[in-house]
Amino acid sequence: MKSDIQYSIIIPVYNEEKVVNETYKRLKQVMDTTGESYELIFINDGSKDDTAQIIQDLCRKDTNVKLINFSRNFGHQIAISAGMDNAAGRAVVVIDADLQDPPEVILKMAEKWKQGYEVVYGKRMKRKGESFFKKFTAVAFYRLLRSLTNVDIPVDTGDFRLIDRRVCDVMKGLKEKNRYVRGLVSWVGFRQAAVEYIREERWAGETKYPLKKMIRFALDAITSFSYKPLKAATYLGLTLGITSFLYLMIVFNQTQFVQTAVAPSVSIGTANLIFKGAIAINLVFNAAILLVLGIIGEYVGRIYDESKDRPLYIIKNKVGFDYDKRNNETHQ
Ligand code: UDP
Ligand code: MG
Repeated sequence: MKSDIQYSIIIPVYNEEKVVNETYKRLKQVMDTTGESYELIFINDGSKDDTAQIIQDLCRKDTNVKLINFSRNFGHQIAISAGMDNAAGRAVVVIDADLQDPPEVILKMAEKWKQGYEVVYGKRMKRKGESFFKKFTAVAFYRLLRSLTNVDIPVDTGDFRLIDRRVCDVMKGLKEKNRYVRGLVSWVGFRQAAVEYIREERWAGETKYPLKKMIRFALDAITSFSYKPLKAATYLGLTLGITSFLYLMIVFNQTQFVQTAVAPSVSIGTANLIFKGAIAINLVFNAAILLVLGIIGEYVGRIYDESKDRPLYIIKNKVGFDYDKRNNETHQ
């Protein structure tokens, strides 16, 4: 089936009732200027507010708007993947719903795409209105990830990007569960180019990425693209082993010396100190062991997720797609 849609815009939404109308307006404005066909696919990631209702109303008014409702919250990265699975355009754009990624930048991306680049990603030159903590952790995370992986994942880029149909088709074949989409896009290769932009403040509402989700996201990224943390366990073990052996030699030496030269006389106070020291060293070693077990656990858990082979997401219903236009809101 050959599509006659030029652009598919994928917008994951989770409890975004305060922004979706504005997001739609801005996107429509920008996309209308292209004079080419487009579709706006909103993926409602199990919102508990009125997000779905608002988008459904938009679908009724504008046939370019489409909606996919998940059966529950599956997460941002999975929502993007569902968007790619359902996009029909020759170029597919992923954009956040909160207008932090300015829709106007899509035009610049489209320009590069027409020059022959299959992936055009947005590079954040500046981030406005985000906390120092968020900015700092983001800078540190992207650099750590870069040092850990062999895949050339550009720093300071989010999921805001345009990909060609060919790249989208390849992405559809990658079914891994704990996904780091921007890493996967780098991994597939093709000709890639950057468009620089300033990341705006969130237009309304709050971030849907609390610290817990951020940590999970970072762990998914690292475990998906690197097993260096597992190697780190070997190096940690080696270092601790060598240190312990050297220390043992010193103690052994001292004991011999003490036996032949001076009779040992240890006060209660000194004995107490030695005892506490021994406990402290033991705690350090135990912590190191648990840490390494935790790292292994992160990988094993993900292997377990893969082995269950459950679907990536469950769609409750779709609105505005061709085949259910006659009978909108039907369950599939
Ligand atoms: N989002 C989602 N599912 C989630 C969390 C977020 O679909 O579980 C969407 C959210 O609606 C937004 C985008 O992902 O369109 C980015 O989220 P957010 O702006 O809250 O993240 P931040 O910019 O603060 O990192
Ligand atoms: Mg945001």
